[in-house]
Amino acid sequence: MCRRRVSLRPAPSSGRQQEAVVRAHHGYYIPDKLEEFGPTFLWVPLKPGRSLMDWIRLTKSGKDMTGLKGRLIEVTEDELAKHNKKEDCWICIRGFVYNVTPYMEYHPGGEDELMKAAGTDGTDLFDQVHRWVNYESMLKECLVGRMAVKPIAAPKEITSVSEEKKQLNVGHGVCPSGMLPEKKILGASSKDLTPSYDWFQTDSLITIVIYTKQKDMNAELVILDCEDKLLRGEIIVDDYSYLLEVDLDRAVQEYVAVNIAEKVGKVEIILKKKDNVHWKILGQPLENHNTFMKRTDRGLFYRKCKLVSKTEVTHDTRLFCLLLPESTHLRVPIGQHVYLKQIIAGTEVVKPYTPVLPFLPLDFQEPSCHDSAHIYLMIKIYSCGLFTQALDHLQIGDYISVSNPEGSFKKSQVQTSEDLFLLAAGTGFTPMVKLLHFALTEVSCLRTVKLIFFNRTEDDILWRNQLQQLALKDERFEVQFILSQPIRDWVGKQGMISSSLLSEFVKRSRKDSKVLICICGPAPFTEQGVQYLKDLGYSQEEVHPFTA
Ligand code: FAD
Ligand code: NAD
Repeated sequence: MCRRRVSLRPAPSSGRQQEAVVRAHHGYYIPDKLEEFGPTFLWVPLKPGRSLMDWIRLTKSGKDMTGLKGRLIEVTEDELAKHNKKEDCWICIRGFVYNVTPYMEYHPGGEDELMKAAGTDGTDLFDQVHRWVNYESMLKECLVGRMAVKPIAAPKEITSVSEEKKQLNVGHGVCPSGMLPEKKILGASSKDLTPSYDWFQTDSLITIVIYTKQKDMNAELVILDCEDKLLRGEIIVDDYSYLLEVDLDRAVQEYVAVNIAEKVGKVEIILKKKDNVHWKILGQPLENHNTFMKRTDRGLFYRKCKLVSKTEVTHDTRLFCLLLPESTHLRVPIGQHVYLKQIIAGTEVVKPYTPVLPFLPLDFQEPSCHDSAHIYLMIKIYSCGLFTQALDHLQIGDYISVSNPEGSFKKSQVQTSEDLFLLAAGTGFTPMVKLLHFALTEVSCLRTVKLIFFNRTEDDILWRNQLQQLALKDERFEVQFILSQPIRDWVGKQGMISSSLLSEFVKRSRKDSKVLICICGPAPFTEQGVQYLKDLGYSQEEVHPFTA
């Protein structure tokens, strides 16, 4: 056994830093039968007094959570393996070892889920389910120490001198003396796809050109943040991410434009100089500059957005309008979500939310001009919800951190559909909003769109009037409301998701019509719905469950 004191740097925690984050504090698990439909999760009810807030309180109580009285030790693999029981459970995540014994009852995925990693390196397991939860903050007080031998293989670094030379060139023949050697982190199959960049300048502008080598580039695949001297540009290439991260030579006023030559995959980022001085170099590369790696390996990046309005949708649901910083270029693709981050009682808490439109446009003849400066979120405030209560207390003008988008839905799934069915429960309606608009506006082969919207009571139905108006306006669209707990005289459908209900409402308009069924709501709703649809004979390609 090897135990000695080590010093540990605190985890990066705020601002524009990239973070090592892990997914989901909801603690859903992936039932085997649904794996073929993609990841979906179940929520394990916790005992009273075991909420996230209770956990935060416990961690602040001064209790010795590791049993080491605050000492940090270096842990060998043999030592780690010994702590593999519920009453003595250590887990290694990214080289750091945590005593998760006191956390067992607070883990929303349940003790069994946590025990899967007991006494081992749980990094992969964590990344599969929890990538976005900031475990460093959540488990800070449980930190035992560092692994003596780093258990995870470092990503392969490839530095090609000739490539570097090509990439370090600068506009107008000026020597790139200020740039450091650059690194790329590649997946084996991605080698040929590695983007490259170049830059040039005029008196007032800096133009960075990125050759993505990807056809059908579009504005949603470019995420740009530029603040004063710091530039971060991320380009999404399938499941990979290419990053430019530079401390610019000089300050810039703003980004002027992101131009995309879709067919050749060229992206131009145009920045306005603050002073019209000639730049000798583009700037100093930051840690992840010029890297190309799996999106899932890239930490979530957050920028602070201003709350500009908050309007009531129902008795407990509000539409939050957030303003992106002026120098941010970010479009959240259809079906994707963002993560919001707040510090609650000293702990960073992260939750996912799916942007919607400000309203349901009734005119589906033309693609609407998207307002790219704002992000609209329709959020249900739970009376005992940790995150939503804090959100509800935000004042107009306050700032909140918003991440880059994530999600597995692809527009192409709906582009060839003839019949689209949207099964939504409660705020599971949110991914359907943009999807509905896109389908009715841009999918020419679409014959029918049916929204089957499950809610508890009439008062819970989100955008009921708008949906009804839309159904009147567009004959392809139909909406069906189904209530599980109707309180007034409700003449409509009642009940929960069931096989009979689905066989009644989900029907192809023609025998062989191409169908897509999207489903989103509480985890058990989604899980059951997917299973019923499978039993009814729908294939994996025909069903898309929205999950984290
Ligand atoms: P918590 O403190 O976690 O829980 C408090 C109480 O609220 C619990 O006791 C429980 O009864 C109830 N509760 C909490 N979470 C859930 C849940 N997921 N399902 C059912 N009951 C729950 N929510 C939105 O309002 N709008 C969205 O656009 C949205 N998008 C999402 C996208 C994804 C990919 C996922 C996975 C979830 C999304 N959610 C959305 C849910 C959101 O992330 C939070 O789970 C929710 O806001 C509750 O957070 P909280 O901290 O306030 O509640
Ligand atoms: P809710 O509790 O008000 O329930 C709405 C309806 O869902 C109910 O009327 C019922 O028909 C159905 N339902 C609820 N619990 C069920 C169960 N155990 N089994 C079967 N059906 C059930 O819903 P809410 O509070 O608005 O919650 C919405 C859910 O949607 C949250 O869990 C949220 O995390 C999830 N969501 C997920 C995404 C995503 O992309 N994954 C996006 C938005 C919301």
